Amino acid sequence: MNDHPRMRRERKTIKIMIHLYCHDHHGTKGDDLCPACQELQDYALMRLDRCPFQEGKTTCANCPVHCYKPEMRKRIAEVMRYAGPKMVFRHPVLAFWHLVIDGTRKEPRRPVKGRGKGAS
Ligand code: SF4
Ligand SMILES: [Zn+2]
Repeated sequence: MNDHPRMRRERKTIKIMIHLYCHDHHGTKGDDLCPACQELQDYALMRLDRCPFQEGKTTCANCPVHCYKPEMRKRIAEVMRYAGPKMVFRHPVLAFWHLVIDGTRKEPRRPVKGRGKGAS
């Protein structure tokens, strides 16, 4: 697992956003997730781990590759639409990094060798 601060931040952002969504839509609390959101989180973390750009990545929303399979892309987009605006108030520093610093990186840096084997 890539321990670069950019990747740690990315994992943390995904987890927080899925938890916000699950708590409000599926009645879970604390560290708990419903089975469907747990599956989505596992998938998102797996994609991140295999991301060809690693710490050179833009945000997934701005990515030219879009490695998510269609169903998961739809589900994560729904989570982001809901949780994105809430992040600005609840986790302003993380939201700032995600939207302003990472999200405005136009072109991902060259893929990291051996990463990104397509959608799965
Ligand atoms: S390839 Fe693109 S969509 Fe997939 S994890 Fe990397 S940045 Fe996100
Ligand atoms: Zn859920």
